[in-house]
Amino acid sequence: MKIAILTIGDELLNGDLADTNTATIARALMAHSLPVREAATCSDHEEEIVSALQRLAGTNDSVIVTGGLGPTEDDRTAKAAARAFDRSLSLNDKALLQIRARFRAWQREMHPRNEKQAMLPGRSTIIVNKNGTAPGFHLQNQQSDLYFLPGVPQEMLAMLDEYIIPSLLNRFPTPPLQCQRVITAFGLSEPDVEARINHTGLPEGVELAFNVDFPMVQVKLHTRGKNAQNLVDRAELVVRKTLGDHVVGIDNDTLAGTTARLLSTAGITLALAESCTGGLIAKLLTDQPGSSTFLERSVVTYANSAKMSCLQVTQELLDQHGAVSTECAEAMAKGVHATANTYVGLAVTGIAGPGGGTEDKPVGTVYLAMVSPWEERVERFNCGGDRDQVRLRTACTALDWLRRLAIFRLTDPARLSDTSRFSNDGQEG
Ligand code: ATP
Repeated sequence: MKIAILTIGDELLNGDLADTNTATIARALMAHSLPVREAATCSDHEEEIVSALQRLAGTNDSVIVTGGLGPTEDDRTAKAAARAFDRSLSLNDKALLQIRARFRAWQREMHPRNEKQAMLPGRSTIIVNKNGTAPGFHLQNQQSDLYFLPGVPQEMLAMLDEYIIPSLLNRFPTPPLQCQRVITAFGLSEPDVEARINHTGLPEGVELAFNVDFPMVQVKLHTRGKNAQNLVDRAELVVRKTLGDHVVGIDNDTLAGTTARLLSTAGITLALAESCTGGLIAKLLTDQPGSSTFLERSVVTYANSAKMSCLQVTQELLDQHGAVSTECAEAMAKGVHATANTYVGLAVTGIAGPGGGTEDKPVGTVYLAMVSPWEERVERFNCGGDRDQVRLRTACTALDWLRRLAIFRLTDPARLSDTSRFSNDGQEG
């Protein structure tokens, strides 16, 4: 079973557009144990599309093509496909009816140019596009099936699910079972993760790969065959045991998602005071549906005046220790905790750079403070990297503190006694 993907478009080659279609298709096929063998991208030039199609069709059983089915002059995929496989290009009545029906449903006048989208290679089957005007098409050339889809990601994905995956499963009814698992860890470097895992005995037949999705490290386990599921389950247990509480998620779990779920389950309410992260911690948490059950507020107190008026940090403290200090972080956490009356108050202050660093406190110096009925904690970190990396690592460290606190509370529920603190009404504003 040899499957290839071809994405078409000048914008994919000149850097204007990131090719997400290849990854989306590959992921969707992998979920059905249909691995992609090859992926290529070519420009909008007809000659190049023709030669890419001929090359891929000559060496693969199936080729999935996206892009270039639009109504404009630079959309040349259908014409190139007709040339590549020696077919005529003619008006396909079924395709034209579909395009007209789409415009009728939108109550819009169809531009005569859209008729071009019904010009398809002979002997092709239409793939219905429920979300846009460009019909897709399927044609067979010798041993190869070629599927042509529009470039627009949501149109492409719907057609992949509804037509192409069933068609591939029909052609390859019993693909060898493949199983993959991704384990995400935080707080360890990639070499550290690799060194730990290489010393453990993973079940035979499980392939191992490492990936950095800053600031996370991912361990990818992959295997195939009848016993794939069982092998990957066993390998996951080994990795979890080895990495311990650094594991923050499995497969699509994110640190923010895991933290939000745990805070909500533990009934821990939270107020944040952010300086150098500028609201990033709150953003990551409020990306999660249902965050109003635990997040009461987040205040971004960037200037000293804001730290004083919103969080009751004193002028004396700022004069004596500065805004980037243990004392200031602690005062910010206490200030927001007292005002919000939540279980937890968490604050962050630091130097994200590129300017503002000193010898004592270089760029990347960050102080994190957390106040709760169970513990008070302040720590200094040195988060290396550029401004974005400093801010992201800082926000993730804060989330990790909250995640660990929630696990601690959940594994010791007897401690959760105070029910008088903030309880949100579930309204997200
Ligand atoms: P349309 O009928 O909308 O013109 P089309 O088949 O002609 O569809 P393109 O014109 O190639 O598709 O692309 C339309 C849009 O789809 C692009 O502007 C881009 O936003 C998105 N797109 C195209 N190819 C890709 C890709 N490989 N990855 C992600 N997005 C893509």
